[in-house]
Amino acid sequence: MTDLKDLKKKQKIVIMGSGPAGLTAALYTARANLDPVVFEGMEAGGQLTLTTDVENYPGFPDGVMGPELMNAMRQQAERFGATTLLKNIDSVDLTKRPFEIVSGDTVLETEAFIISSGASARMLGLESEKLLLGHGVSTCATCDGFFFRDKELVVVGGGDSAVEEGIFLTKFASKVSIVHRRDQLRASKILQDRAKKNDKIHFIWDSVVDEILGDKEGGVTGVKLKNVKSGDITEKECQGVFVAIGHNPNTQIFKGQLDIDEVGYLITNKGSTETNIPGVFAAGDVQDNIYRQAVTAAGTGCMAALDAEKYLEELED
Ligand code: NAP
Repeated sequence: MTDLKDLKKKQKIVIMGSGPAGLTAALYTARANLDPVVFEGMEAGGQLTLTTDVENYPGFPDGVMGPELMNAMRQQAERFGATTLLKNIDSVDLTKRPFEIVSGDTVLETEAFIISSGASARMLGLESEKLLLGHGVSTCATCDGFFFRDKELVVVGGGDSAVEEGIFLTKFASKVSIVHRRDQLRASKILQDRAKKNDKIHFIWDSVVDEILGDKEGGVTGVKLKNVKSGDITEKECQGVFVAIGHNPNTQIFKGQLDIDEVGYLITNKGSTETNIPGVFAAGDVQDNIYRQAVTAAGTGCMAALDAEKYLEELED
């Protein structure tokens, strides 16, 4: 594995993130002989590594496991010369040319920069959630579901993630209650139908988790639920809580440097991956609050690579 310290200081292109967007950008820029350096982050492979079956990525008629797909993408990019590093980018200075990229105590310079840092799980914001995270509270059913064999679980959320995780958790749990703050799911019809046919899944409508009960030693013992219409508080026994209420784009280090919308997504020019700073491009979930699919992330990763290649060619002219 390449060490950050072995890299030359000045790079043509640095890519932040190693989900489908980052690795597709790496594949294309590597094939254009631009020797991309990919900062994979601490969760190499991005959100798909937290998934089991991916059934909607084209080319896999029988589906593919998320981690397997991401491994194959990394290998494909490396085959053409991409350097991948299991490192975070801690800060950037995009006012300088070349741009300055800081990781730990190493500073790299790059002519072009592709941001594909994705999005992180959103949390409820409860003290008890913070306390019990990893002790019965989880944001990843595929990672932690196994630990809840024959247990009762609560899943929070009403989107595709919540319903999909709920269905997945029935492989282990004796009962899964999906707690949603409204009386209608946002999830796709196919997932809703699957969930409604599953005897182990129950829905608790118009309700939010007010507190998660338990302690670090004994884990989760239940939740306090608040009905948002009546205000009534009830207690429900459960041994695990899965929070599946969406994601926040990973854009903190760009605040004040790049244009960001009110939710936190990077803003790109219509029909391209250009940000407000020439030479900085954004691809994947970090700039997409509409589609958020692996295949659209890969598509915008390809666009970012082609945009960056054109930018670098013009820079040389
Ligand atoms: P999402 O679509 O944004 O849904 C988030 C859910 O959490 C919503 O139901 C929302 O309620 C609820 N919520 C948000 N904040 C909350 C809070 N503070 N307290 C309680 N509930 C809260 O997120 P997602 O389900 O993670 O999906 C993200 C994207 O990935 C979507 O485009 C989705 O289609 C895609 N996805 C696809 C698949 C698949 O196709 N198999 C699987 C997973 C994700 P409201 O409904 O009231 O807003």
